[in-house]
Amino acid sequence: WIETRNYKQHHDRRFAQKIEKPRSGAMAMVGVRVAAILLVSIAACFLLLGHAGAVNGNQAPHSPSPVIAIDLGNTNSCVAGYSHGHGQVETMFQLCIPTWVAFPGDGSVLVGEDAKNHAAPNPIFGFKRLLGKSRDLEREEEEVRELMVRVPYKVVGRERPLVQVQMADGAVKNLGADEITAMVLAKLRESAEAYLGRAIQEAIVTVPQQYNDPSRYSMLRAAELAGLRVTRMIDEPTAAAVAHGLHRKLRDEGNVLVLHVGGGTSDASVMWYVDGVFEFMGADEDPFFGGQDFDQRIVDHFVELIRKKHGKDLSNDKGVLGRLRTACEQAKKALSSQDVAELSIKSLVDGVDFSGSLTRAEFEELNHDLFLKAMALVESAMRQAGLDKNKELLDEIVLVGGSTMIPGIRRLVTDYFDGRELKNINASVMPDQTVTLGAALLSHPMANGYPCMGGDRRQWGYSTDWCFTD
Ligand code: ADP
Ligand code: MG
Repeated sequence: WIETRNYKQHHDRRFAQKIEKPRSGAMAMVGVRVAAILLVSIAACFLLLGHAGAVNGNQAPHSPSPVIAIDLGNTNSCVAGYSHGHGQVETMFQLCIPTWVAFPGDGSVLVGEDAKNHAAPNPIFGFKRLLGKSRDLEREEEEVRELMVRVPYKVVGRERPLVQVQMADGAVKNLGADEITAMVLAKLRESAEAYLGRAIQEAIVTVPQQYNDPSRYSMLRAAELAGLRVTRMIDEPTAAAVAHGLHRKLRDEGNVLVLHVGGGTSDASVMWYVDGVFEFMGADEDPFFGGQDFDQRIVDHFVELIRKKHGKDLSNDKGVLGRLRTACEQAKKALSSQDVAELSIKSLVDGVDFSGSLTRAEFEELNHDLFLKAMALVESAMRQAGLDKNKELLDEIVLVGGSTMIPGIRRLVTDYFDGRELKNINASVMPDQTVTLGAALLSHPMANGYPCMGGDRRQWGYSTDWCFTD
């Protein structure tokens, strides 16, 4: 039911998907239309009673201003939503960019692919984890420090982490993670506006289940800075479950494991679907584990190989390592669908071309212990949910994040669940698009049959789905 169209524009990786309105929704659509017409009539009656002269009874409601869905990822961020073409067909669009921002130092700001791939100086990435972090809290400060050793930019700030960026005149400026996030959100909003040809003011945003209140407020602030009013904030695993229609499939009750292995972060959650909402039963995360670790293992492997074969030590040459890393990531992705991947890099060292190959078996051997880290998250979430001794009680397994396309990881998950069917294995929903798709479905006025019910529980800590109505 998805037809993907690829096109390149403004150097960003973007893709649009055409999705026909699900047929099952047609009846509900009719019902809701009737209900909507009734509501509008009732409202109009009230208005007429109140201000008889002021109301124009003939004014038909215009097509509502579109609400976009935004999935801010640690490595890649996407925007999606519906556009209304001619006639009745609704199309779903989706555009993604790397979660990178760069400050070349001439006053300009690069966002997305431009920031990542054009050898832009002063690139900023991995800042999603900084949103709402307090440097006064020991555990959070620890995470900030761990990020600092992994990124090329400086993190300063006393109470909250601030990212040091280079301005036009060579001066430095300290920006909060919310301000940098806002640049990514603004870019996504603009891309969606260009695609839809109309202004957008509202968005549904997804957040990690682990986000606490300050992180969620920080996300709201980022959206506000990007000119977006957040209408609904929903946890990523819940959006993933909705993308697979599990709220329909599980009917009255059931549970689901969502394993996310992204580029730099991973987490597992077990949720219970009951009374029309997904509730968290157990969750665990590793904020510094993901696809980049697998890339690094391949890089190390080839650096060692080159050292042995050619007596060259590349481990301190950042430029060479960067190009090698890009090739290694490509090889890794290729190995998700083929047994051997070839790497070739033009004039890698001293003008000499490099070529090498890696088999899937070699890749798995290099990363086996890392794959087990993903499984440790699954085990931990299952244990917390009280399901580790009763795995058969788990109804659904959803894999999310680009790294869950790795066959070696899928095999370990399948083995853990004794060969059970994994959601997502059929490419109907790509793992790295699942969260975005779920949020996009919820951006539809019909909310895809998963209406927001988190309104009573005013504390973020207890709500995984929050709707802002006013
Ligand atoms: P996030 O949502 O956390 O930002 P993504 O879900 O977009 O991250 O995943 C990005 C990671 O997935 C990268 O490390 C990328 O190399 C990896 N990845 C993408 N496609 C594949 C694939 N086919 N096989 C293996 N890894 C992949
Ligand atoms: Mg993602």
